[in-house]
Amino acid sequence: MERSEFSVLDLSQVSAFDCETDVIVCGFGGAGGSAALEAARAGASVILFERASGAGGSTGMSSCEMYLGGSGGTALQRTLGFEDSTENMINYLMKSCGERGDPEKIRLYAEGAAAHFEWVKSLGVPYKEAVMLDREVVPLTDESLLFTGNERTLEFMDAAKPVPRGHVPSHEGDFGGRIFIDALTQACVDAGVDVQYDSRVMHLVVDDGTVVGVAVKQDNQLKYIKARKGVVLTSGGFIMNDDMRKRYLPWNHKWATPYGNPFDMGDGIRLGQAAGGYTINMDEAFLSLPMYPPAKLTYGLLVNERGERFVNEDAYLARLAHFASVQPNQKLYLLLGADDFDHPMYIERLDVVATGDSIEELNAEAGIFPEGALAQTVAYFNEHARQGRDPKFRKAPEWIKPLEQGPFGLLDLSFDRQTAVIMPGTKGPLTFTLGGLDTLPTGEVKHWNGGVVKGLYAAGRVTAGLPRSSEGYASGMSVGDATFFGRLAGKQAASN
Ligand SMILES: Cc1cc2nc3c(=O)[nH]c(=O)nc-3n(C[C@H](O)[C@H](O)[C@H](O)COP(=O)(O)OP(=O)(O)OC[C@H]3O[C@@H](n4cnc5c(N)ncnc54)[C@H](O)[C@@H]3O)c2cc1C
Repeated sequence: MERSEFSVLDLSQVSAFDCETDVIVCGFGGAGGSAALEAARAGASVILFERASGAGGSTGMSSCEMYLGGSGGTALQRTLGFEDSTENMINYLMKSCGERGDPEKIRLYAEGAAAHFEWVKSLGVPYKEAVMLDREVVPLTDESLLFTGNERTLEFMDAAKPVPRGHVPSHEGDFGGRIFIDALTQACVDAGVDVQYDSRVMHLVVDDGTVVGVAVKQDNQLKYIKARKGVVLTSGGFIMNDDMRKRYLPWNHKWATPYGNPFDMGDGIRLGQAAGGYTINMDEAFLSLPMYPPAKLTYGLLVNERGERFVNEDAYLARLAHFASVQPNQKLYLLLGADDFDHPMYIERLDVVATGDSIEELNAEAGIFPEGALAQTVAYFNEHARQGRDPKFRKAPEWIKPLEQGPFGLLDLSFDRQTAVIMPGTKGPLTFTLGGLDTLPTGEVKHWNGGVVKGLYAAGRVTAGLPRSSEGYASGMSVGDATFFGRLAGKQAASN
């Protein structure tokens, strides 16, 4: 079924092409628009096929946060007083991506990210010279710079100096992706890209191992388009494809909520595989905790159903979710002291499972943890917290406060509860895929038997790009990666 839907067509099976162009780009999200624009600006004729009736994909739904820095700092970082060397950014990204990271992509990205910011601005995307230093995923007001990862946690500070790198278009409300995609669409049109909507790429056409065109479904008919220079796959990830999720992400299939556009069906990955493309990192996915503890809740303690802590609570929400996902039954609870228990957001929207004037009373009311477990956890934490230390998980001193003053409260953040804040009405953490075609930094798709698939390029979530795990994910790594490497793939395809 999967093979027949996305098999390659040999050139001999194509009696005639309906039309031809230099470069074909498959999917108009951040990666596709960036690839098409750069290919066109390099002088190539470009057709950009998009399955939906409009541009955007998941990029259009996103906040368009981009993780940028290096080169001494982007213009925005420098204006706001933040210096960020390329080596500092590389050190951070290497720590973030861990063993799965691609050092070549990381270096290229860190070296080019500040210039990439200038490119994004040149499209007309607005940024405000204001920084937001709170613990938030996106600013609720209109600041354009913020911390979006684990930069300020002690473990990551061992590797790199903390610098805010989340760059988000300035606006009130969460519409960054729309602003960016509208600007990118206009730039593509101005550059002469032939954008065709309601067009699903169904097959790659291959001549003696080289990709030379595509078959695309339009008005329920297959049309054959020749690519003189190359085909760029930019059709996004596979989080909406239930079969692929079951196969590659069985560990999160039961409890995570897919986060993406409806056409995140893995088409490009399967098209690439059919042409010999190699896939990697298919078992990794971004996760977000049902609720990102805002600053005040960071003083609390996250515990599992055994009443044990398992992570430094000041970690970024994707890292919190990663460690939560490996706890028994994905159960997690946030224990808070009196000072922090009156936050309206969680009182209104989250499950308060127990309260108590003492930890023992709360433990008994909750009926979840083994007797004495929570008291032991709190006693150990308090003993060191009084000296501003957290030897076990290394929470940063600014978030350490002994839990001594009751009444105490316990919130249920378990994965089988509602994702109350980010996406009301859905269950479990939100997830999107981080695996896909293995590519060179220039976008060439690696062949499973070595070398590359000639004529084939890819970027964005159809590939295993910059971000490789939830454990080290920082918001902005995906749109930053998709647009940065999308541009390189477009240029490379046009250069043939
Ligand atoms: C709500 C939300 C918020 C997010 N916020 C951020 C953020 O602020 N920062 C960040 O870094 N990441 C964010 N992410 C993740 C990020 O948006 C995506 O990972 C990234 O934008 C993917 O870009 P892409 O170009 O690879 O794919 P997409 O932007 O999804 O584009 C792929 C396009 O290909 C099309 N397509 C699919 N199949 C075919 C086919 N066969 N033929 C033709 N076209 C096809 C799709 O319709 C789609 O338009 C967010 C995700 C979501 C869902």
